Amino acid sequence: MTEQMNRIEYLRQRKQHCCCKYCGGLLEIRRVAFSEQDDARVELYCPRCGKIEFGVEKEIYAVTEYFVEEMGFQCYTDIENPILQKQMNIAKVAEIISWGFVNLGYCDENGFRYPLTIPDALLHEELNLKRDKWQAYKEVHDNDDTD
Ligand SMILES: [Zn+2]
Repeated sequence: MTEQMNRIEYLRQRKQHCCCKYCGGLLEIRRVAFSEQDDARVELYCPRCGKIEFGVEKEIYAVTEYFVEEMGFQCYTDIENPILQKQMNIAKVAEIISWGFVNLGYCDENGFRYPLTIPDALLHEELNLKRDKWQAYKEVHDNDDTD
């Protein structure tokens, strides 16, 4: 499989589990030419927003939209258009939540991971100790046949 075919297959799978981080719309695969000198590249694209958009997990968009609306989250006070302002706020929070999920090991390029594996390097030493104690406790009680 060529690199171009790998990229198209990757984007095809990504558009299934991701949506536009600005409007929540479905993404399309489009061939986009950036300049006359460049070969056209294949990108994910939001037809509603009219822009190249790599997307976020649909579930992350949903919780982000809820958060921005219910908490009144506002970090773009300089934008006067309320629709654009809301989209920018949702996109910013969705980026932050996505970053956290990826760095905690909950998501990767294929979407949500199951089973979860949190990299030890990301956990504070104290959390690792608590996890070790919990696993030792669980092993003792899982083998307990008194119930
Ligand atoms: Zn969009």
